[in-house]
Amino acid sequence: EGRETRLRVVLRVRPLTCTEQRRGDRRVVHSLGDGTVHVSAARHDATFGFSAVFDADASQEAVFEGSGMRQLVELAIDGFSCTVFAFGQTGSGKTYTLMGPLGQASPQSEAPGLLGLMQRSFACLLEQSRSRGTGLALSASYLEIYNEQVRDLLSMEPPRALSLRWSKTRGFYVENQLSVDFESLETIVDLLLQGSRRRRTSAHALNGHSSRSHAVLTIHIRSRTVSIHPTPSTCPSKQGTLCFVDLAGSERVKDTGSTGELSVEANNINRSLLALGHCISLLAKPRGKRTHIPYRDSKLTRLLARSLGGSGVTLMVACISPSSRCLSETLSTLHYASRARRVTTRP
Ligand code: ADP
Ligand code: MG
Repeated sequence: EGRETRLRVVLRVRPLTCTEQRRGDRRVVHSLGDGTVHVSAARHDATFGFSAVFDADASQEAVFEGSGMRQLVELAIDGFSCTVFAFGQTGSGKTYTLMGPLGQASPQSEAPGLLGLMQRSFACLLEQSRSRGTGLALSASYLEIYNEQVRDLLSMEPPRALSLRWSKTRGFYVENQLSVDFESLETIVDLLLQGSRRRRTSAHALNGHSSRSHAVLTIHIRSRTVSIHPTPSTCPSKQGTLCFVDLAGSERVKDTGSTGELSVEANNINRSLLALGHCISLLAKPRGKRTHIPYRDSKLTRLLARSLGGSGVTLMVACISPSSRCLSETLSTLHYASRARRVTTRP
C-alpha cells in the first residue's frame, strides 16, 4: 500500500489462424521460456522479456492462473482499484483473451474451457463473496469509447454520448452512467454478453468481427464488515474496483482496406492509442524526471488516468500474432509493452 509498484505486463501469442496457415505464413515469434520471447525474421532479430509469456498452446485457464489475474481480483476485494487491459493489433486475440470466442458458433455454455479472463474473474469474485459471511455488494457498469464519444453499453436506449467530467475528489468520471447490481454469475455474464453485442464492430480484411471501440467494464465491490461491539451491525468498510479494458486494435489503414467511415474510425482509434502510448512513455520515466502527463489528450487516457499513473494496480496483457505478415505491428506492440513495464503506480 502506497509503495511504488510496477505495472505487470504479460504477453500472449495466439496460434496461427486457419487463413494464415492456408496462406503458408511463417511463424516469426518463438517463446524461449522464462518469460522471454524471440522474434526472428529477415533484418529483425530481437528478444523481449515480460512477467510471463503465453505461447500458442496456452489454455485460457493457464492465462488466468499465470497472469496474476486471481491476485488482482483479491486486491480489488481488499479495496484497491485494479485494472486489466488487453492491447495489440486488431485480430491479435484481445477479445478472445478477455471473453473467449464470442460471436462464434458455439454458445458459451458448451465450451467452459474457452471462457476468458473476465468470466473467470467473475466466478472467482462470486466464490469469494459466498465464502465471506457478509457477502460483497457488487455492481457493474460497461462503457465504450467510439469515435471519441463515451456510450453506455448497458443502456437499452439508442446510443448517446455521455460526458466525461473531472472533480477533485473523484478524478475523471462519467456522468449518468448506469450501474447494475448483481449477485449471480448468470446475471453478470448476461450483462457482459448483452453489452458486447451493442459494441461497434465491423468486418475488415484482418478480422471478420473487429471491435471498433474501446470497451471498459467496471465492477464495483463494496465489502461489509460485521462489528460485534457494541451491537451487531453491518457497516461499509472497503470499496474496490475491478476494471477490464478491451482496447480497439491498432491498425494500418493500408492493411485493413478501410475507407470512408471505417477510416474515420481507424484514425480515431489510432489517435487515442497514440495518446495512450505517449502517456505511457512519459510515465515510464523516473518519478523525479516526469513532466506533465497529457491525460486530457483523449477520452481513453482520461478514463485510464487512475489505473495508469495514480493509485491503481494494473495488469497489461499484450496480444500478438505469430505470423510473418504481422511483423511490423508485432514489433510495435512488443516495444509498447516493454516500455509499459517501467511505469509505476502507488496503490
Ligand atoms: P482482437 O480482439 O484482438 O481483434 P480476436 O480476439 O477477435 O482479436 O481474435 C481474432 C481471431 O483469432 C478470432 O477468430 C479468435 O477466435 C482467434 N483467436 C485469438 N486468440 C486465440 C487463441 N489463443 N486460440 C485460438 N484462437 C484464437
Ligand atoms: Mg476485439
